[in-house]
Amino acid sequence: MSQDSKRPLYVIAPAYNEAEGIDSFVMALGKVLSDEASLGKLAPTIIIVDDGSKDQTSAKVAEAARMLPQGVRVVTLRLSRNFGHQAALQAGLDYAVQFADVQSYYITLDADFEHPPTLIPEIVRQLDLGIHHVQMVRHENLQRKPFKRLSSWLFYWIFDKLSQTVIPVGAADFRGFSNQVAVQFVKLPEHDRFHRGLFHWLGFPTIEIRYESPLRRRGKTKFSISRMLELAVSGLTSFSERPLTIMLGIITTSAFAVCLLYLGWEVFRYFHGIRFVVGWPTMIFFISFWGGANAASQLVVGVYLTRMFSEIKARPVYICQEISSFGTAGGGRDKGGVSE
Ligand code: UDP
Ligand code: MG
Repeated sequence: MSQDSKRPLYVIAPAYNEAEGIDSFVMALGKVLSDEASLGKLAPTIIIVDDGSKDQTSAKVAEAARMLPQGVRVVTLRLSRNFGHQAALQAGLDYAVQFADVQSYYITLDADFEHPPTLIPEIVRQLDLGIHHVQMVRHENLQRKPFKRLSSWLFYWIFDKLSQTVIPVGAADFRGFSNQVAVQFVKLPEHDRFHRGLFHWLGFPTIEIRYESPLRRRGKTKFSISRMLELAVSGLTSFSERPLTIMLGIITTSAFAVCLLYLGWEVFRYFHGIRFVVGWPTMIFFISFWGGANAASQLVVGVYLTRMFSEIKARPVYICQEISSFGTAGGGRDKGGVSE
């Protein structure tokens, strides 16, 4: 246990250009956590990872942090630039794990109220029961944009078909977990990290809790179509080699089939005495077939190669420029640091 024998609880939220609503988010977290802390068992720390925001996100967090009740500490990690949602979560987790003890709990959630802070007590209750990993699973909110709903459903469907790691439909990065899980998670060496998959890959006992997801309160989504696609490709390729094997399988089989068909046609022609200006359609067919097949297979191989390239470079997942802390347990301003 920590020195004052309360259980440390780290609540980690990534925030990118969330100045419009981050203060009310921190206040809402503060309220829920001080209620929990007042029960005397928890020592909560809110960790907001400012993922290179260009607005006043960090300043707003500091403002809100100063108004929080006693007993809730706030730490802001400011990354040097925008590294992406997954890297920001990783930064928060790496930071927390350094100070945690074996009793610590961790919760990660988005900073836009789509993951309601009011559900934190329920997550803590489950962790108290000895569950290592509590995965929050969203009921589909019919008010979400149809495109978002469809793309998210399609991703989970494809992931389920291609990967042996099972992640529930609607599982996002809203979860609670034990110190044992956190320690194993930060040890995973890969750089391109798809948290949803990795937490399930670790294999600790997990329960799912379904919740109604409200819509984002303020600001707009930071995930453009291309960033969503990037995350989807990263998730699929890091958890399945099947796109590669499927592509190679399709190409080999179809190439073989086309050759046989063509051979059959030649034999048929020979025996039936069919004569015409041969060659042209067949040639076009072959050229375009092989051109397409080659391009497609190279694309898949290329995606894996890019991933290998980025893993081999082994650059840090994020750079932390500044760490500030507010509240009872810390106070003052720490020096900035570079982390991996
Ligand atoms: N976010 C981040 N870095 C990014 C993009 C998003 O830290 O590059 C944060 C964002 O501030 C929010 C969470 O990640 O707290 C989820 O992002 P968002 O709500 O935009 O995604 P959506 O819910 O639309 O998928
Ligand atoms: Mg959101």
